[in-house]
Amino acid sequence: MKNNDNNFDVVVIGGGPAGMMASICAAQNGAKVVLIEKNSSLGKKLLLTGDGKCNITNENFTKKETVRALGKQGDFLLSSLFQFGFKETEQFFKKHGLKLIEQEKGKMFPETKKSKDVLNLLIKELKEKNVKVLFNSKVFKIESRENSILKLILENKKEIVANKYIVATGGKSYPATGSTGDGFNWAEMLGHKIISPRPALCPIQVKENWVKELSGLSLSDVGLNVLVNDKIIKKYKGDILFAHFGLTGPLVLDVSGEIDKFMKEQKIILAIDLFPDNLINISKLINENRNSNIRKILSLIIPQRLVSYILSFAKINPTKKGNIILKQERLKIEKILKQVTLHPVGLLGFDKAMITKGGVSLKEIDSKTMQSKIINNLFFAGEIIDLNGPCGGYNLQICWTTGYLAGTSATKI
Ligand SMILES: Cc1cc2nc3c(=O)[nH]c(=O)nc-3n(C[C@H](O)[C@H](O)[C@H](O)COP(=O)(O)OP(=O)(O)OC[C@H]3O[C@@H](n4cnc5c(N)ncnc54)[C@H](O)[C@@H]3O)c2cc1C
Repeated sequence: MKNNDNNFDVVVIGGGPAGMMASICAAQNGAKVVLIEKNSSLGKKLLLTGDGKCNITNENFTKKETVRALGKQGDFLLSSLFQFGFKETEQFFKKHGLKLIEQEKGKMFPETKKSKDVLNLLIKELKEKNVKVLFNSKVFKIESRENSILKLILENKKEIVANKYIVATGGKSYPATGSTGDGFNWAEMLGHKIISPRPALCPIQVKENWVKELSGLSLSDVGLNVLVNDKIIKKYKGDILFAHFGLTGPLVLDVSGEIDKFMKEQKIILAIDLFPDNLINISKLINENRNSNIRKILSLIIPQRLVSYILSFAKINPTKKGNIILKQERLKIEKILKQVTLHPVGLLGFDKAMITKGGVSLKEIDSKTMQSKIINNLFFAGEIIDLNGPCGGYNLQICWTTGYLAGTSATKI
């Protein structure tokens, strides 16, 4: 341990979930740690997670097949999660007074359903472990010689020297929270390859103007089929939300990653299936309500706001009584309910993307320690690494895992 005020065993840049976890774990091992954050507070993005409730992890990350489904990223994460995965995360929060509960599909939340409680727990731990936190301190330069970092220089010209450096500056999404991609530039300057950062888990803009009128309408458990050049390439099921620009909601955010790669070159269609689990018998419904008009009949099975659109696509007068709806018209309605088509034109950018795809190449990071294979006293944690998962708590688990490994290994290696 050093005596000089600006000399530390470990310096962590970035006070998001990954940086806070890394700082706590390094300090736990007896290191003198400083955490540098450019905002006036820690965890600005963490507070927004899960709509303020914080979907902190996902139990499915315990399943090898879930991890492997992430491809190369999954291969990298297998050994990392083995050291600090779902169970260890659950225990960590429980030990410090926050029980986790499952909501659905393995999604875990703090019992209190407040991201503020997760942040407060981490801040309390930082204090108890004597981590020094520098607020309003933007790192603007990292100086290195050969394969070692020598020091950091803050915007206010202050210099910080440490034995080990952990970069946890996040990605580029939601830049208003502080994640502006600074770490990508430093990593590149230090010789790392950066997989081009792209917005992911992102709302989808569509060509159809009529969706504006449905803004705010949510549909639960609907199907969303992705068609490329008129062939279904993937089927999803879940909840979607109409917005003035197109579609959003957890399912849409997951789909955004899939369509991103096709959008520029190929004809792509999103088809909403309002009844993904069953065939609907419209004739039976109409016959049972033959004296009502078709608008009323359809509002028995789909939201009122959607009915007039379905009928206008089918070119049927909404005031037409059930008993005079023709067979062809009935078939048309059935077909449209199974396939409301939309043409995606783009993804909303980094401003509205939940995460950033890309980042520091996995080939240049040791998956067991998060140590750089290029600079010997450098470690990475969190979204700056080329790792990302779907919606559902996977991205925060990546932060807890990589934060733990970076913090712990920085005090051992
Ligand atoms: C609206 C929203 C909801 C989300 N909900 C969920 C959810 O429920 N579950 C889930 O798993 N994931 C969720 N995510 C994703 C999750 O929040 C991120 O994956 C996670 O915050 C990444 O953590 P991080 O520590 O790597 O980086 P960040 O949280 O981005 O933190 C990086 C920190 O570094 C600081 N920094 C950057 N540059 C500098 C610099 N030059 N000097 C000093 N400090 C710097 C920033 O100010 C910031 O505080 C959500 C994201 C968003 C935007």
